[in-house]
Amino acid sequence: MNAVLTVDRLCKSYHAGSKGKVEAVQDVSFHIDEGECLGLAGESGCGKSTVARLLLALEQPDQGDVLLHGTALHRLSGKELREQRRWIQAVFQDPTASLNDRLPVWRSVMEPLDNFPEAIPSFLSDVRGSRRDTAARLFEMVELERKHLDCYPHELSGGQRQRVAIARGISLRPKLLVCDESTTSLDVTIQAQILQLLKQLQRELGMSYLFISHDIAVIEQISDRIMVMKDGRLLDIFAKDEMWDKKRHPYTRLLISAAHF
Ligand code: ADP
Ligand code: MG
Repeated sequence: MNAVLTVDRLCKSYHAGSKGKVEAVQDVSFHIDEGECLGLAGESGCGKSTVARLLLALEQPDQGDVLLHGTALHRLSGKELREQRRWIQAVFQDPTASLNDRLPVWRSVMEPLDNFPEAIPSFLSDVRGSRRDTAARLFEMVELERKHLDCYPHELSGGQRQRVAIARGISLRPKLLVCDESTTSLDVTIQAQILQLLKQLQRELGMSYLFISHDIAVIEQISDRIMVMKDGRLLDIFAKDEMWDKKRHPYTRLLISAAHF
């Protein structure tokens, strides 16, 4: 198996006022295979989103490397980093963060492609002549209707907004999609629909996922392998079918016993 992404001994700390130094990520190493969904579980504050931001090169690590097909992202210069950025996209908990509330949603969906016009993926090549048709194709892929193109974010439901954010996330056909609490704000039925959609898109487009949630029961539904973090450290990593083994880390078993399967 080829690793899309390798994370090698990442460390990141913050100076957090009266709390002093917070070691958000400590000596974290893992890899993500091509076409794999790797889950990342752990309670709030354990460092999951910091890992996500480091992978997306939104932040610089104190130590360690993030290698995308062997290229160390944090060692690249501006232009080279810009070129690599298209390969790692994200879908966050709050879709409104990536959608401009003063623009019809189709304009926000087109933003990554506007930034990388040379990067049109094959599933959009027949509509590339029209930005609107391109957006409409992406909407179709996330099961939104053409009439939704001109809606403003506040006119859509939470689930629909998350579909828009996913359309944006897949528009460049990234090698890796980082989903950070992407279904957390949704109620259970909608959450199941979005998980289903993400699975389907992963199959169709051959992407890898880092799927982050505080809820290991959600992670279990979509992941091939699962990692567990606590206090900035990676405690456990295992294939999904090894989840119920007695040999799991005691903390993993605690998370499992507290979750609703
Ligand atoms: P999670 O996503 O697992 O909830 P985070 O990665 O958001 O955890 O946070 C990990 C730790 O780092 C927490 O203690 C959090 O308060 C701290 N932290 C995260 N970002 C910052 C920041 N920009 N400044 C100071 N502390 C931060
Ligand atoms: Mg988080």
